[in-house]
Amino acid sequence: MSSTDVSPVESTAPVSSDRDNFIYDIIDQDLADGTYGDRVVTRFPPEPNGYLHIGHAKSIVLNFGIKHDYADQADTRCHLRFDDTNPETENPEYVDSIKEAVQWLGYDWEEHEYYASDYFEQFYEYAVKLIKQGDAYVDSLDEEEIREYRGSVDQPGTPSPYRDRSVEENLELFRKMRAGEFEDGEHVLRAKIDMTSPHMIMRDPLLFRIKHAHHYRQGDDWCLYPMYDYAHPLEDAIEDVTHSLCTLEFDNNRRVYDWVLEHCLEDEEIPSRPRQYEFNRLNLDYTVMSKRRLRHLVEEEYVDGWDDPRLPTLAGLRRRGVPPSAIRSFCRRVGVTRSQSRVQMSHFEHALRDDLNEKAPRVMAVLDPLKVVATNVDEDAVDWIDASHWPRDIDKEGTRKVPFTREFYIEREDFREDPPDDFIRLAPGREVRLRHGYYFTCETVVTDDNGTVVELRGTIDPETRGGTAPDGRSPDGTLHWVSASHGVPFEARVYDRLFDVPNPRAADDDFTAHLNPNSLSVQEGVLEPAAAEHLTDARVQFVRKGYYWPDPEDSTEDHLVFNQIVSLRDTWGETDASLSREEIEERRREKERQKEQQRQRSLENKTDPVELLSDDQRDRFDYYHEELDVNRESAATIAGSDALADFFDAALQAYDAPRPVANWVVNELLGNLRDRTVDDLPFGASEFAALVRLVDSDEITNRAARTVFEEMLDKGGAPEHIVDERGLRQVDDTDALSAIIDQVLDEHPDEVARYRDGKQSLIGFFMGQVMQRTDGSANPEVARTLLQEQLEE
Ligand code: ATP
Ligand code: MG
Repeated sequence: MSSTDVSPVESTAPVSSDRDNFIYDIIDQDLADGTYGDRVVTRFPPEPNGYLHIGHAKSIVLNFGIKHDYADQADTRCHLRFDDTNPETENPEYVDSIKEAVQWLGYDWEEHEYYASDYFEQFYEYAVKLIKQGDAYVDSLDEEEIREYRGSVDQPGTPSPYRDRSVEENLELFRKMRAGEFEDGEHVLRAKIDMTSPHMIMRDPLLFRIKHAHHYRQGDDWCLYPMYDYAHPLEDAIEDVTHSLCTLEFDNNRRVYDWVLEHCLEDEEIPSRPRQYEFNRLNLDYTVMSKRRLRHLVEEEYVDGWDDPRLPTLAGLRRRGVPPSAIRSFCRRVGVTRSQSRVQMSHFEHALRDDLNEKAPRVMAVLDPLKVVATNVDEDAVDWIDASHWPRDIDKEGTRKVPFTREFYIEREDFREDPPDDFIRLAPGREVRLRHGYYFTCETVVTDDNGTVVELRGTIDPETRGGTAPDGRSPDGTLHWVSASHGVPFEARVYDRLFDVPNPRAADDDFTAHLNPNSLSVQEGVLEPAAAEHLTDARVQFVRKGYYWPDPEDSTEDHLVFNQIVSLRDTWGETDASLSREEIEERRREKERQKEQQRQRSLENKTDPVELLSDDQRDRFDYYHEELDVNRESAATIAGSDALADFFDAALQAYDAPRPVANWVVNELLGNLRDRTVDDLPFGASEFAALVRLVDSDEITNRAARTVFEEMLDKGGAPEHIVDERGLRQVDDTDALSAIIDQVLDEHPDEVARYRDGKQSLIGFFMGQVMQRTDGSANPEVARTLLQEQLEE
């Protein structure tokens, strides 16, 4: 980009997590109770058996987010701990990739990098302690027998014949197990808990097994490896972790977690021992999120390595061009709860677009070129036109020069020989606007022997340079284009979902059978020259096409390769920078009006509003209803209008209180719009949000809020300002209110008499008077109480 200052897109500043979740509540309580003094220690404990995926990002953002969010009120740390207790599948390549991914996401574990395998000696010692206490024993049943003895959900287990070995015998056998005197599987160490427990997991869980295997860090030092349920709580305790956060599948394992710590730790350590809390795992549609399955895809070469841009791995997303900030904000948006759900890919894409919108300068690229000749332009003329990198609604500066020449390319799909009625782009005899360029009219269509269109010819109107006509006429369509002589050829890699079913795991057959054969499509396009100049780390928006960046592996100066990061939601109209503001608004209004009419019609027929939503709207509805907890009807109402939903989203940015904001949108705003749309309002979403905040925080009464809102609808303005100007802050000052009430009562002696005679319903009349006099700013509860007191006198 020639003259644009593209600000660095990668940021290392961690964004804090959504504080409104049950884990934060628990930490707040622990800090208040002093359970751990002022310590808050979390950890992210990946097993280095593959690359991290976006599900891990949720856990990273949660754990490291806590470290940042509590930094100013507690002594916080977040450990990066490699949970490397399985020798077979772990390796240093994975360790490195994990560290890289965490750093890329913007987090820093400082000196707290730990390896569970460094604690093998301690695990052993704790086991000896358990044996001595009579809480563990060496079992010599084989795997199969152990399973049989364990019983089933409705049948208690049977004690192993080895369960009552003496402490001495157990110690001796356990020592020999460590010394390598037995084969794999000959003996195991088990906790002695309860073979009849209703919780299968508590029926003498395994603590250690023998495995003669090479460990990538410990070499051949050990042939005794601890089980997850035994090792994990001890790892947490050894590191003084306070809050051990894991996903819901470990809910049941918490029983063993607690048992291990209560039997291994000293009494005085127990009150401040780590505790495990489970949260919902992130599941995304149309992809798989287990390292094992991802490894299968990589190893069997279904994809091109761990960083294939189609994979949900952090390495893949990074290579694709997804900014880490978008992942952080997505992970916060999906929320931390205890109810399991699947998240639609469109939520992720939504977060991505939000993030990229203000970061990615707009440039023009044609992905499927069709040649056009402007016959009234000289063959060697090059007209360098100044063009803004940003649409009007983004307050940023930066322009580049776009060369206009006699021959140029447009997108093949932007021309139709025989267009349908609603087609507003190029057709024979039609005039369109070339974005930033001229108005162009198509006069001749050149086809080859097969009838395929190979070239269009026509003329430009030289009076329309820059995209406006002196006579004010304005074509319906605006096309992006690239000069044929100055454009730079490039390869565009356009990605689609990796699988063609939402949940490929659910299928019991081979999950790779559901791979989408069209997940990658390669197109040979042309790029405007400015976009080809600075190639590293430059995320751009190809107007009307999507967000792209140069592939960090394959793009070279001689062969540019751009990855599609994400497509644009609406490829027409809304993002069209060269339309005038009025045109954009007119189109939006029209669309909204039509949709509104349709909605009204179907509402009259009592159709479920959710049924009427398009797929994209449905995604938004799900998000509002399920994630933000907005009630069903409001969520459907808002999601059913894109403009309203955009407005709602923008308002939440300013005041993150979905329910009150939604109530105001549905109950106050919609009713007042009548035949307008939100785009016609004289105020923006942030002013609207400020108003909701004022009522929601009880700074003004509902009634005062309506007064303010009326003025905003009429003249715009900032609500705080209107409130101050009109003195509408809620009055709950008893003296001031009493004075007003006295006045009201003095002026209405008849009503006072009737009230005192028993007509108590007159209280409403008096309240009305008080409210009127205070312009709605009296705190209604205080006013009512005072009124009653003064009337009872
Ligand atoms: P995978 O099956 O992908 O290997 P895992 O849970 O075995 O997942 P670990 O390396 O053990 O992977 O995970 C490290 C941490 O990341 C754990 O605390 C785990 O709970 C968390 N985690 C893994 N997958 C998800 C997910 N989809 N959503 C949220 N957290 C996750
Ligand atoms: Mg795993």
